[in-house]
Amino acid sequence: SVKEHGRSHFRYFRDDMTTAFPNEALMESHLRRAIEFDELSIHLQPQIDLTTNRIDSFEALLRWNNRKFGFVSPAQFIPIAEASGLIINIGDWVIEEVCRYQKEWKDLGYRPVRIAVNISPKQFRREDFARKINDALNKYDVEPTLLEVEITESSMTNVNETFSILSDLKHLGVHVSVDDFGTGYSSLSYLKKYPIDTIKIDQSFIADIAKDEKNEAIIKAIISMSHNLGLEVVAEGIEELFQVAFLKRYRCQKGQGYLYNKPLSVEAVIEQYFVN
Ligand code: C2E
Ligand code: MG
Ligand code: MG
Ligand code: MG
Repeated sequence: SVKEHGRSHFRYFRDDMTTAFPNEALMESHLRRAIEFDELSIHLQPQIDLTTNRIDSFEALLRWNNRKFGFVSPAQFIPIAEASGLIINIGDWVIEEVCRYQKEWKDLGYRPVRIAVNISPKQFRREDFARKINDALNKYDVEPTLLEVEITESSMTNVNETFSILSDLKHLGVHVSVDDFGTGYSSLSYLKKYPIDTIKIDQSFIADIAKDEKNEAIIKAIISMSHNLGLEVVAEGIEELFQVAFLKRYRCQKGQGYLYNKPLSVEAVIEQYFVN
């Protein structure tokens, strides 16, 4: 209970989240051994090119099936991983897995696709982040343009540090996107300072299309600004056709969401997109 464990243990849980774990400390101790017990896997969600309907990129989303408590949502365990520092090992594991798929798929002759990986602030700001990325690319002989890192504004706390890391990544040739765009508190000036390739419009804006005119004005502005800055723009959380129609009208380049596909297992992706 809150009383026994102290309120701070519960600060990461939102009301709309449920987990079988009785408390955060127990979740953390299970998470600590999740890699060793082979409980983690990666699902891939296709990103649709809204002008051609082609699929040339996917987002990697972590899944945790705990042997005792079952599936746990990343919205619950990622904050625990971040706070405890476990995100470093878990994050390395995700990057390694994704690079391993790329190697396997290339060897099998599948067409090249880009895979985006979510990066937590602690992972991003680690001193050797760009080097770790480079090591993984080299180890599996992956074309750098086929790897994308998704960061959020919460990673961009220090201007010089952020610029330095992003410049290193740019130099490597990996693709960089800003996730959950529009929900942070940063000044927009970072868009001209940093070498960024893509903006991902947060799904909360997409969910409110046709519900709220102000919201629509914001989406139009984000898309138009992205065009003017030469950035690619991706809409997250597309569930309805009218949302697609709206996004196409304002020339949003890419979209992802349940309308097209939920995040799929790697086997399902191979079957659906590479083998025919
Ligand atoms: P995100 O990076 O913004 O990922 C998008 C989330 O929206 C995913 O939830 C995805 O399954 C969900 N989604 C996709 N399409 C739709 C849709 O049409 N409707 C709705 N309602 N949701 C949709 P998921 O997989 O539960 O991940 C939640 C968050 O956990 C991610 O948000 C990301 O911040 C974090 N996360 C997931 N995997 C990783 C990882 O490997 N590393 C790190 N650091 N964070 C991760
Ligand atoms: Mg993401
Ligand atoms: Mg997002
Ligand atoms: Mg998010």
